[in-house]
Amino acid sequence: MSENHRLRDYQAKRDFRRTGEPNGGGRKPGDKPVFVIQKHDARAMHYDFRLEAEGVLKSWAVPKGPSTDPRQKRLAVATEDHPLEYADFEGVIPEGQYGGGTVLVWDTGSYRNLKEDANGEEVPIRKCLIDGHVTVWLEGEKLTGGYALVRTGPGGAGDRNWLLIKMKDSEADARRSPVSTQPDSVLTGRSLEQIAQEESRT
Ligand code: MN
Repeated sequence: MSENHRLRDYQAKRDFRRTGEPNGGGRKPGDKPVFVIQKHDARAMHYDFRLEAEGVLKSWAVPKGPSTDPRQKRLAVATEDHPLEYADFEGVIPEGQYGGGTVLVWDTGSYRNLKEDANGEEVPIRKCLIDGHVTVWLEGEKLTGGYALVRTGPGGAGDRNWLLIKMKDSEADARRSPVSTQPDSVLTGRSLEQIAQEESRT
């Protein structure tokens, strides 16, 4: 499936004359795959966890956001693939549009696929996604270390529930809670309120 096909759901949900979100297809993959976590003040506040794979950003909505404590399993609901340009989208999606509300880039960086087969060969991320078990090492500003995304059901359409879990490694820390202590944008330092205010002025 081409990335244009993959973005069909994303594009069908949005009116690009009204939203400032990117319409996709304008960025090629770089040397290292990226991840981004966006804080999204929509009808319900949530975090969107996105991993670059197959030319798009594979996406999950995480209501409580990521934890640095391996004992905290966070529900992550799979959502439509997003274009690579979405990784630095920050702004206000107009009311009445899909996902209406303010978005900030809460954390971003590169990641490494940790999944290896019995011979020590990397398992392609594509296969990990199909199998419902993804393990990655994040190199962000707020989050570093291993994270697992594990599908909880047997897979297939309509089965969108996964868990996002910090792996037990040197970066695990049950005392940290970056979601509460580091709420602002890693790109611009702005809070959700500042972004909303600045956009309402323009
Ligand atoms: Mn969202």
